[in-house]
Amino acid sequence: MAKISYLFTDRHGGLSSPPYDSFNLAYHVGDDERSVQRNRDILKRKTALLSIVWMDQIHSNRVHVVDTPLGGDTTIDRCDAIVTDLTQTGLAVMVADCIPLLLYDTKRQVIAAAHAGRNGTFLQIAPKTVRTMQRRFGCDPEEIHAVIGPSIGPCCYEIGEDLAAIVEKSFGKQYMNDRYLDIQRLNVDMLTGIGVKAENIDVSPICSACSSDHYSYRREGTTGRFAGLIWME
Ligand SMILES: [Zn+2]
Repeated sequence: MAKISYLFTDRHGGLSSPPYDSFNLAYHVGDDERSVQRNRDILKRKTALLSIVWMDQIHSNRVHVVDTPLGGDTTIDRCDAIVTDLTQTGLAVMVADCIPLLLYDTKRQVIAAAHAGRNGTFLQIAPKTVRTMQRRFGCDPEEIHAVIGPSIGPCCYEIGEDLAAIVEKSFGKQYMNDRYLDIQRLNVDMLTGIGVKAENIDVSPICSACSSDHYSYRREGTTGRFAGLIWME
C-alpha cells in the first residue's frame, strides 16, 4: 500500500515579489512566470514529486480522471476536480479564499483534489468528485476521508442579500448568519449527505481572509494563490 500524503502551502518560502509575495503557485494572476516556475520547483523538491497535475480552474463541477502517467508538470484544461489512482502523481488545487478540498481512500488507493468555490459548491463539486471515485474506482464513501483546507470562513464571507436569500432557499437557513455564508459547513453537509462519515472530514480552522499567512482574493484583490496538494508515494 502506498502512503498517502497531503499538504497546504501558504504564502511563505517562495520567490515572488509583492503583491504575490512570496510562494505564489499560479501563472494566471499576473506574477512573473519565472518566479512561479521556481516556486513550483520548490514544491516538487519539498515533496520529492516529479509530476504534479494542476488544473485550469473555471468554477465548474467538471471532474477529470487522470488514468495514465503524465511526465513533469501538467495542467488539465477546464476542470475543477481531479481524481487518480496513480502513485507519484501529485494533484494540486489553487485557491485564495475558495476551498481547497482533498479526498482520499487509503483502502482503494485513490486520491482527489477539488476546487470548491461558491459556484463549484452550489454545483455540488464535492459530492460529484466522491461519486467519480465511487464509479471509476469502486470507492466506498464510508472509507473516504476529506480535508477542507484554509479558505474564507463564516467570519468574513459576506455575500449580497439576493444571493443570501437564494442560499437559504436552496440549501437552508443554517448556512447563513445574516449575510455571512458558511461554505465549509455546506460542503461538509454535502459530503455527509452522500455517505462520507463526519468523523472522516477534517476542516481547517484557518480563514484565508483573516490569515496574513495566506493569499485572500477578498482582502487583496490582486494576489497569489496557495495550493492544496495530495499524492501517493
Ligand atoms: Zn475570517
